[in-house]
Amino acid sequence: MSDLKLPARSEDFSEWYNQVVLRADLADYAPVRGCMIVKPYGWSLWENIQAALDKRFKATGHVNAAFPLLIPKSFLEREKEHVEGFSPELAVVTVGGGETLEEPLVVRPTSETVIGYSYSRWIKSYRDLPVLINQWGSVVRWELRTKLFLRTAEFWWQEGHTAHAAYDEAEAETVQMLNIYADFAIREAAIPVIQGRKSESERFAGALRSYTIEAMMGDRKALQSGTSHNLGQNFAKAFNIQYLDRNNEMQYCWTTSWGLSTRFIGAIIMAHGDDQGLILPPKLAPHQVVVVPIFKNDAEQGPVMEVVGRLKAELAGADLRVKVDDREGLTPGFKYNDWELRGVPLRIEVGPKDVAKGTVALARRDRPGKEGKSFVPQEGVAGLVSQTLADIHQSLHDRALAFREAHTHDPKDYDEFKQAVEDGWAFSWWCGEHECEAQIKDDTRATTRCIPLDQPGGSGTCVRCGKPANEKAIFAKAY
Ligand SMILES: [Zn+2]
Repeated sequence: MSDLKLPARSEDFSEWYNQVVLRADLADYAPVRGCMIVKPYGWSLWENIQAALDKRFKATGHVNAAFPLLIPKSFLEREKEHVEGFSPELAVVTVGGGETLEEPLVVRPTSETVIGYSYSRWIKSYRDLPVLINQWGSVVRWELRTKLFLRTAEFWWQEGHTAHAAYDEAEAETVQMLNIYADFAIREAAIPVIQGRKSESERFAGALRSYTIEAMMGDRKALQSGTSHNLGQNFAKAFNIQYLDRNNEMQYCWTTSWGLSTRFIGAIIMAHGDDQGLILPPKLAPHQVVVVPIFKNDAEQGPVMEVVGRLKAELAGADLRVKVDDREGLTPGFKYNDWELRGVPLRIEVGPKDVAKGTVALARRDRPGKEGKSFVPQEGVAGLVSQTLADIHQSLHDRALAFREAHTHDPKDYDEFKQAVEDGWAFSWWCGEHECEAQIKDDTRATTRCIPLDQPGGSGTCVRCGKPANEKAIFAKAY
């Protein structure tokens, strides 16, 4: 399949994306519309994302647990905004074992309710706090307009749920997890993100305050890539999560929730990919290095494969994820294209000439063609490969950051604003009124992505209404 050319990103970004997902073997369509099958290559990428996040969660005191897939429908109704937000997307089970159920069950769209129920039973005293639990699993939200990884009826994610004795602790936890997501995006996925607060209309159903990391994709749209919510006491009151404080008085807990999903794979594809296909960030790539042996006959095969075997052992010994492409009946050229399409950060080619000279060819995925190719000694190749992968990570990050900066504007007036959101993002003073936000959306299809935590200070005038404004917001078209 990979001998057919992909559509150019500049001509049809959406179709480029669809074809990359399918042809790179990340995912496939499911028999149920809107669902997704994650294939081994895509799942391996997700496993690396999971490992990088899980390590960070545990380092900050969180533990994992598993809560049920099915939730009594009445649970959703206990928090008013929550049920309004999720009702249209619920999948409901009404029959079990051939019998109509007394109470319908929902397939979890998120687990605040069932976890709130559990916390109300587990938490008795201030000594039980904080509770810091994360769950890895999947959830279902009935989506009609779907796109693999970006918007599917079922998706995989982690959802953290914590309970605290005080507002300040819950707020600190919410911001800590936002910072962990940002650190993960930058250091592992090489995706620069902006940390910010969601506007009232964009916040999570039932939350006091929502935070997000937003990233610019290759088509200059924004993608919300992870969210963290301070739920205040809304769920604690709905589920009666109470504790006895030091003065022996009953208090409601303060809770948070935070999640990052397989949608992040969409961010990786769209932030880094090019017309040849995927470019995977080295720290998350299922295969960091692919070795392609080149030989024409049995006489060449023996010595080439001997070098390849030695390289593989050396690279694996240096904790690198290495794949030898020894598929028969395919030309080296076909294999190069295939692994380029599938985004492997670094390729090593070994042919008879390399055997004779004691060298190998290295080809960087982030710099296609001759520019990214070099011939290096076999001796000490693992060190050089590690160094090159670190360099690829940095150059992917810097390229994405430069791209975002080049397409983020500070428009002087509303006319300039309209042009800015056609090109990319606008970083503008906003009065904070919903009316302005809604009008901007009507006029331009751009939405408030976030109010960045990093503000310039001072004050200005709202880009739409001209009223005084104390904060700047990012406006953009978004996925
Ligand atoms: Zn305004």
